[in-house]
Amino acid sequence: MSYTPAAGGEHTRAVSPPSAAVPAERPMRMPVHRATTYAFDTSQDYADVLSGAQQGYSYARIDSPTVDAFAEAVAALEGAGLPDRVRGQAFASGMGALSTVFMALTEAGSHVVASRSIYGNTYSLLDRLLRRFGVRTDFVDITDLDAVREAVRPGTAVLFTETLSNPTMTVSDLPGLAQIAREAGAALVVDSTFASPAVCRPLEYGADVVVHSATKYIGGHSDTTGGVAVAAPSFIDRIRSARVDLGPCLAPDEAYLLHRGLETLPLRVQRQCGTAALFAAALQDHPLVERVDHPSLDSHPQAALAAKLFDPGRYGAVVTVHPRGGWEAGMAFADRLRVATIAASLGGTHTLAGHVASTSHRNMNDVELAAAGISPGAVRFSIGLEDPQDLIGDALAALGGN
Ligand SMILES: *Cc1c(COP(=O)(O)O)cnc(C)c1O
Repeated sequence: MSYTPAAGGEHTRAVSPPSAAVPAERPMRMPVHRATTYAFDTSQDYADVLSGAQQGYSYARIDSPTVDAFAEAVAALEGAGLPDRVRGQAFASGMGALSTVFMALTEAGSHVVASRSIYGNTYSLLDRLLRRFGVRTDFVDITDLDAVREAVRPGTAVLFTETLSNPTMTVSDLPGLAQIAREAGAALVVDSTFASPAVCRPLEYGADVVVHSATKYIGGHSDTTGGVAVAAPSFIDRIRSARVDLGPCLAPDEAYLLHRGLETLPLRVQRQCGTAALFAAALQDHPLVERVDHPSLDSHPQAALAAKLFDPGRYGAVVTVHPRGGWEAGMAFADRLRVATIAASLGGTHTLAGHVASTSHRNMNDVELAAAGISPGAVRFSIGLEDPQDLIGDALAALGGN
């Protein structure tokens, strides 16, 4: 590529942008485009890009190439089995994605029906923040389709669930929920963070919008915060417009890292799911274990549904172990782990463990925990890429004590 050297004084030359608009190179990766602003040949081009009459980039909060490339790569995975093209929008975090999607699809007076078993910040977003703006949410047991049907009514704008919910790995009946949403004229929005598109693609089962915290499996290396939403153009245009007004755009450097992570998503998740199933099976019959939650186990309430909705052999890679002996025993179990590390989050290369009742579900009292199927000692594992035998040996030793 040939550049035309900038003309003028020292300061002018120091700040002159590259002169070549179209690179002759074909880099095998989308470069990090950090520019916040883009040049035009004419005033008419500038006006046409802003009005949408012409494709192009103007300002980075609106769109930027590295971020778009990442969002469209996620859309290509989520929409693989669909006849019509879906598109993606990327966000600074999973909550940035969720709050924008809800703002885009609701207004004062709107009604939302949501699963009771959802990520804590999504719960407070709906129950507190959006309620202040006149959006009312009813929370239901999402596994009870009759209860969902009863809660949904004409004027319900959104039906919301998670493909797999924390920490019991409860599976949502996506085709059943899609039918209820369709009959009511509501949009089915699914947070599929715990599944990732390498396990399940909710749009194939009738969801209207799928949302991810890309911080988890999509990034996959516990080093980048981001979010993404994928939907048909009619929905994505509304979501994009709300994102541009609200401003939680993903940074180009983060988009680059998330896109790089995405390339190994199927490999990582396949391996993590396989290890998770071995881990769950090895622990469930231990005398000091009351129960293990993982949809690969016959004992899981939605094992059959998971087999129907998920890719073969991929049941997610979060496993929750309920040791006997209550709160103290659960904390001691986590503290004795040597391969797994006590930490928040999930979906990275390294196995993480956390005592549920004192951390992610600390706002629930004993009655609420019991109703949600969470024992006081439950420890949640996010299975990483270690050798399965090392993880199983670690957990068995930690259960045995001393
Ligand atoms: C982590 C998480 C979120 C929030 O994502 P951030 O990237 O932390 O904002 C939302 N939903 C689920 C299921 C999550 O695990």
